[in-house]
Amino acid sequence: MNEQRLQTDILIIGGGAAGLNAAITARQAGLGVIVMDKAVIERSGHFAGGIDHFAAYLETGPDWDTSDAYLDFTARSSRGATDLSVVERVYCSELKAAIQRFDDVGCTLRRKDGTFFRTQSYGQPGPWWINFNGKRLKPLLAAAVRDAGCKILDRVVTADLLVNDGQVCGAAGFHIRTGIFYVVQAKAVLMTTGGTNRLFQNPTGLSFNIWMCPANTGDGEAMAFRTGARLANVEYLRMTVIPRGFSAAGLNALVGMGGKLINGKGEEFMERYDPLGMKGPRYKLVQGVLGELKAHRGPVYVDCRHLDPEALQHLLTTLGYDKDTLPDFFAQKGIDLGRDLLEIATSEGMQGGPNEVCGSGVKIDGDCATNIPGLFAAGNSADQCRSLHMAFTSGIHAGRSMSVFAGKNMKNAIPVPEYQVKDIRKRLFEPLEAERTVSWHEFEDVLQRILSEGMGPARSGWGMKIAWQKLADLENWQNQVRAETYHDLCRTQEVYNMLTVARCMITAALHRKESRFGQCHYRLDFPETDDHNWLGQIAVNRAANGRIQAELVPLNQRPPADLGV
Ligand SMILES: Cc1cc2nc3c(=O)[nH]c(=O)nc-3n(C[C@H](O)[C@H](O)[C@H](O)COP(=O)(O)OP(=O)(O)OC[C@H]3O[C@@H](n4cnc5c(N)ncnc54)[C@H](O)[C@@H]3O)c2cc1C
Repeated sequence: MNEQRLQTDILIIGGGAAGLNAAITARQAGLGVIVMDKAVIERSGHFAGGIDHFAAYLETGPDWDTSDAYLDFTARSSRGATDLSVVERVYCSELKAAIQRFDDVGCTLRRKDGTFFRTQSYGQPGPWWINFNGKRLKPLLAAAVRDAGCKILDRVVTADLLVNDGQVCGAAGFHIRTGIFYVVQAKAVLMTTGGTNRLFQNPTGLSFNIWMCPANTGDGEAMAFRTGARLANVEYLRMTVIPRGFSAAGLNALVGMGGKLINGKGEEFMERYDPLGMKGPRYKLVQGVLGELKAHRGPVYVDCRHLDPEALQHLLTTLGYDKDTLPDFFAQKGIDLGRDLLEIATSEGMQGGPNEVCGSGVKIDGDCATNIPGLFAAGNSADQCRSLHMAFTSGIHAGRSMSVFAGKNMKNAIPVPEYQVKDIRKRLFEPLEAERTVSWHEFEDVLQRILSEGMGPARSGWGMKIAWQKLADLENWQNQVRAETYHDLCRTQEVYNMLTVARCMITAALHRKESRFGQCHYRLDFPETDDHNWLGQIAVNRAANGRIQAELVPLNQRPPADLGV
């Protein structure tokens, strides 16, 4: 097997929204940048096929359109799980730069007349969602990164980080087509692999037909965890509402434009579940759908028949920005949203922050730095970031912080420990050995079943301990997972990493002996929300003995009396 050695100032693992923004910012600061992505950056990650909403306050005058209102909303809706000082430094301080970045790469958030098309949903106090045409955002962002002179390693799967004397000094991976083994030495490394999505069974039964990007499998969280980094908010289960039989983003567009959820009796039901009704947070919409189905008042539909023709036309056009195939699905089913109800269902679960202002993943501070020197995180892989607005702003912010770290503090990159390189290389290619008996498909299938049974919308200490035990049994088979091709080898890495995230998720959820954010963490044995004892994040990390340890970390937040979703 060939090997390639490279050196740089900044290594970015994951060329998605956050990673590419960090790359541009670090290049602008004059640093050398390498981006490693398991796919091709023009069409990789969550919004490979397009995107249509960016959350922003714009300081146009009203009280709701200010950073104070945003921070207040974040405090209330993240119920202790988001650090306001981090949000202020990462999001508020970089918001203008992020909006400018859209213009710079040629995918403006504005309409032709220079104004923004703004909609309101998910509990926001005003219309913070800018609805835009992000169909070509990813290739445009990628072009800007290539033009800036970053070196791109497309189709290179990062397998593990390299650490010397407690400091991250690079990473190793392999090319998914040629098998070439890459070792990159860097002064600072950014983890932006986009969260953990393929962990639960899918209602369509097809593992890759999911709401979010199926290629993002918690690789970054697992790699960071193995180096001793802390993960936070990983106990939460994230779900959405999808058209029945087809997994697609689009709920925000439907409810933001005024679509209503109704049950089989034709009743609007959301006010039973949230005082804000249809404008409530996403998890409450999911809770409403689950509740109506459980109460035998299904099927459940989205009703857009009352929308005026202009709003309806806008909706139909922008639904396709996210996923081209969604309008095709409607056409093939003969569904006309102006005439018909759209039957909906709840999506698969994923490990993710409970709402749009509360992320989960590698724990970061106000510089996007982790507790491991040299390692930074941003985007959906970082605990304070979720959604496009946080991916852009945290990417830009991480690019700045890393440039300072690598530019001022270090003359040369720290040497890469050769024993680690040898060890990773051995572990990595082992699944290609012929005598292994389990396919990654089977392994993933069992993993998803265990998680779906034990860690779904209703959990108990007993059920989670059983899930934990089953994962231990599954882990005994890990060294039997075989790969016949380099592509398979990528999948084996993914399922190992998902197993690691699953273990962290159970550990955190067992530790949190209360319920929070509805079905995101609903414990049958502790059904009440207990702000007095559990306000804050559960952080997990790998102890010296290899076990996962969990602790409650109170954050810079408002007092409990202020909270309420
Ligand atoms: C269809 C769709 C529509 C959406 N619409 C909206 C919206 O309108 N508004 C909004 O706010 N949010 C939306 N989201 C969510 C939003 O896209 C994400 O929150 C955001 O893109 C996250 O950015 P990221 O950089 O963290 O991850 P990504 O952009 O997904 O990037 C992660 C990158 O890491 C790479 N990677 C993963 N593992 C490895 C590895 N081991 N080695 C190397 N590379 C790796 C992936 O290939 C990928 O390129 C949508 C998501 C989807 C799927």
